Amino acid sequence: MFKKVLIANRGEIALRVIRACRELGIQTVAVYSEADRESLHVRFADDDVCIGPPPARDSYLKIPRLIAAAEITGADAIHPGYGFLAENAEFAETCAASNIAFIGPTAEQIRVMGDKAAARKAMAAVGVPIVPGTPGPIEDVDEALSFAREIGFPVIIKAAAGGGGKGMRVAEDPEDFMRAFQLARSEALSAFGSGDVYVEKYLARPRHIEFQIVGDKHGHLIHLGERDCSVQRRHQKLIEEAPSPAVGPALRERMGHDAVRGAKAIDYVGAGTIEMLLDEDGSYYFMEMNTRIQVEHGVTEMLTGIDLVKEQLRVAAGEPLSVGELPPLRGHVIEVRVNAEDPARNFQPSPGRIDVFHPPGGPGVRIDSHVYAGYTVPPYYDSLLAKLICQGRDRAEAVKRVQVALESFVLEGVTTTIPFLARVMHNAAFQAGQVDTKFLEREASLLREP
Ligand code: ADP
Repeated sequence: MFKKVLIANRGEIALRVIRACRELGIQTVAVYSEADRESLHVRFADDDVCIGPPPARDSYLKIPRLIAAAEITGADAIHPGYGFLAENAEFAETCAASNIAFIGPTAEQIRVMGDKAAARKAMAAVGVPIVPGTPGPIEDVDEALSFAREIGFPVIIKAAAGGGGKGMRVAEDPEDFMRAFQLARSEALSAFGSGDVYVEKYLARPRHIEFQIVGDKHGHLIHLGERDCSVQRRHQKLIEEAPSPAVGPALRERMGHDAVRGAKAIDYVGAGTIEMLLDEDGSYYFMEMNTRIQVEHGVTEMLTGIDLVKEQLRVAAGEPLSVGELPPLRGHVIEVRVNAEDPARNFQPSPGRIDVFHPPGGPGVRIDSHVYAGYTVPPYYDSLLAKLICQGRDRAEAVKRVQVALESFVLEGVTTTIPFLARVMHNAAFQAGQVDTKFLEREASLLREP
């Protein structure tokens, strides 16, 4: 096992990794920007290194500084968390070249799955269903348009290198398409450094269903069930739950089998997520794979009892997975993301000082958070303050638990999404489990105080 792990991240995920390391008797190194000097991950790690000024491109994204910090502190492995460099093939490569274990898949695996067009190809090759669309990136607008006509409108134009809900444009008709295609190409080039785009069918009311998978270096790869992440705003997740109200044992078996098949096709090692869209008619399609731990991993942890970060550490160190197959699912789990944002103002970030912080507790309640009373939320990074994850014996109990927890969640000083999330828990359609990716568009009144 590793002796000392450097965490190339900040916020709640840095704390999460520190906890897992401690349980395994591994020392930890925190890195931080000048804006994060007072952060809890700095306090709880065994060692810490300042890696630069606040903007991420000058600190958390500076590969040479992270490698130097690992070398100075004698870390033998780096955990990238999520975001920042977690899906950066060059970072994984540089770690390997510096004799530091990268806690994640190989650079090659990151590269294949980081290119959405290449990933589609790899999945189609082993028979995993993909959303109907162009076989690869497409440059010529007329050729793209004739593809779009073939699969039928509406279509979505996606940047091959896109992520985080960015780099996607929907076109409703041919006229719309000509404009959207050119825009998508130039946006992709400026945002991701590659103008490669492809076109796929835009499903009307799909659910976002993703499968957690874990694989080790001994050829053992399993799935740990699905998460339903259909409550989204602008293609970004706000609420995640498992099991999905739309997935029963038979569908789980089929989708899980395909997820495993897809990950095995690239001999995947580590924790990863196969994201799929589930259509109203029950068909499902591979959408993309994330080659890292995800924000919502805690949902699967509560449902299965498996510590995914410890599994990541184990398999990166060459040990076998500690689990042989999907364990019995323990009731129902729902996660809500508490962000420093104002839903009434387009989810505008609301950084600032937190004056009072009293998170909820009790049976079935888990809080993953890095904030405390007196902490100042810096304006430079994402606005996640806390993940509230609640488990119940069934979905109704889980919904109730989230509701009660949110109502007793005291967080003062910054505007948060807590009241909005509480309104969702009271929404009749949500309570009935009738949620797809268009849910919030239909229920737009949830965004405002009644
Ligand atoms: P990102 O990598 O930016 O997260 P994804 O490809 O994972 O992008 O898509 C994010 C979200 O966009 C999905 O969860 C879904 O809501 C929506 N989406 C993507 N592709 C389609 C599609 N073909 N039809 C309908 N919705 C889609």
